[in-house]
Amino acid sequence: MSIKENLSDLKKKFKKFDCLLVAVSKTKPVADIQEAYDAGIRDFGENKVQELVDKQPQLPDDIQWHMIGHLQRNKVKYIAPFIHLIHGVDTFKLLKEINKQAQKAERVIPCLLQIHIAKEETKFGFDEEEVLALIQEKAFDELKNIRIIGLMGMATNTENEAIVRAEFGGLKKFMDQLNTLELPENLALKELSMGMSGDFLLAQEEGSTMVRVGSAIFGKRNYR
Ligand SMILES: *Cc1c(COP(=O)(O)O)cnc(C)c1O
Repeated sequence: MSIKENLSDLKKKFKKFDCLLVAVSKTKPVADIQEAYDAGIRDFGENKVQELVDKQPQLPDDIQWHMIGHLQRNKVKYIAPFIHLIHGVDTFKLLKEINKQAQKAERVIPCLLQIHIAKEETKFGFDEEEVLALIQEKAFDELKNIRIIGLMGMATNTENEAIVRAEFGGLKKFMDQLNTLELPENLALKELSMGMSGDFLLAQEEGSTMVRVGSAIFGKRNYR
């Protein structure tokens, strides 16, 4: 099936229509991105800075580029001028660097805090307690060039739907909990980036506002 057909198929399956589809184009050529663009997609996600800065100038200017996955601090400067949203902010140090580079680029960069929701031992993401402590310490208040607009989470890679559902539901609950607190101006939480090709329907049922879908649109990836 073509990318266009995959997209229309995918959209038909959506359970929640106020949910942004971020087309994850990592490892895929610009021709594939252009095809999805021509089918109406404007939001694309990449997880490698080098790949992102290679592709960005070759494609239309009105694409909104999303940085998904782990971002190294020393690479923030390359994407700061144009990035639309950084999904995987997983340390406070990284957030400070994004703030610094955003200031240099004279803009405010929207970010999502990646929260560790999976049972699996993964390296990346904040624990809920960490975020609560940072809010209490007013650590976010000084970062005038970032805006945290929500949370991102990756569920455990399992066939067990109950586990995945509970993890996504837990992230939604945590955002609701944060929103009962007194938050600084640059912490305006409403987006929940959760769900990929294998679990986006569950994620939507649990309140996702953005799904990051790659292989269901572009087909399997070949990693060399
Ligand atoms: C690759 C990737 C996706 C998309 O995965 P698919 O299973 O191909 O939909 C989503 N989120 C992140 C962070 C990724 O790295």
